[in-house]
Amino acid sequence: MARIVIKFGGTSVADVEHIRMIAHRVKAEVERGNHVAVAVSAMAGTTNQLVDYAVEAATLYDLREYDVVVSAGEQVTAGLLAIVLQDLGVPARSWLGWQIPIETSDAHGSARIERIETADILRRFEEGQVAVIAGFQGVDTQGRITTLGRGGSDTSAVALAAALNAERCDIYTDVDGVYTCDPRIVPQARKLDKITYEEMLEMASLGAKVLQTRSVEIAMKHRVRVQVLSSFADTPGTFVVDEEEIVEQAIVSGITYSRDEAKITLTSVPDEPGAAASIFGPLADAAVSVDMIVQNVAADGKTTDLTFTVRKADLARAGKVLEDLRASLGYADLRADANVVKVSVIGVGMRSHAGVAQSMFMTLAEKGINIQVISTSEIKISVLVAEEYTELAVRSLHAAYGLDQV
Ligand code: ASP
Ligand code: MG
Repeated sequence: MARIVIKFGGTSVADVEHIRMIAHRVKAEVERGNHVAVAVSAMAGTTNQLVDYAVEAATLYDLREYDVVVSAGEQVTAGLLAIVLQDLGVPARSWLGWQIPIETSDAHGSARIERIETADILRRFEEGQVAVIAGFQGVDTQGRITTLGRGGSDTSAVALAAALNAERCDIYTDVDGVYTCDPRIVPQARKLDKITYEEMLEMASLGAKVLQTRSVEIAMKHRVRVQVLSSFADTPGTFVVDEEEIVEQAIVSGITYSRDEAKITLTSVPDEPGAAASIFGPLADAAVSVDMIVQNVAADGKTTDLTFTVRKADLARAGKVLEDLRASLGYADLRADANVVKVSVIGVGMRSHAGVAQSMFMTLAEKGINIQVISTSEIKISVLVAEEYTELAVRSLHAAYGLDQV
């Protein structure tokens, strides 16, 4: 008998009617003779509401209590799905994170799964029972409830699939797969049948919101076959798989954009050993993560400008840290710009093909889009451009790399 893990996102469990619909999918999987564990999200909108409550209760809230509050949505859906399954004659029970337990770090609000105890679930599989598991939550070594960061029920599902050695992890959402680009911006975007773990990891971390980044890391590490598909359609989705499984690998598989970027430029930074360390060290201490960085050689041999990006939410904090250190860092001016977008081109084919960056730069140049910062890895090229060019940049790149639907 195969073990299958199925995850349902918030829109798939938006109300009891929807829960009944997806329960039929679970039932069908059971009738195919599979052992099934289901990970559920909170009903659409619920987690946002719970976050708002926590913020309203106190601006500087205790993160341990925040986790108690925001994890509550998944408890409701897990119980409801178990009730509906039982009503359909499918033996099922709900599990909260701490009951399994799903052991996590104590980084409240963004905890990492460390271990999942599977003995009880496996024993109940043998009795024919479906395990309905509250996603997004776990328990730390102190016995306190933790959550895995927004979108974390993807990670619950993939980690469960790894722990249970599942044949497949089906992630049901409201889109029918992974697209070459966000279809809301590029109507010509195509659904991919398959995508490699590495590309999916880049896409998730560069702005595609279909899977939580951490879930892809776990899938890649444990070689979990993940399928992203829609609970509102009966078509196969996109499989996230090993590179060897993809016969005809495109050079570029997808284009992403992220508006969650802000640019900081420090002018006339002394060009001397230790300058970068004394800027980025304090930022790291303030939990500001820095993404793209450019620094030029000093034309006068003494000072140079330094530009880098941070998350939009961290811009004010980063600015404060740098202002406070202005005297010791010795820069002339701090310029902040939140009006930027990071556009990225992703594909494992870049490893073996030259010229991918050049076509990106040419395409943007032809549209008169100025590139402010560039960063690359083996399989991606990212550029920072003014936010107003988001659509134009993304659409023209999509066409230039031959990704448009024909
Ligand atoms: N309900 C949580 C959230 O909205 C977890 C998830 O849906 O994946 O972030
Ligand atoms: Mg999600």
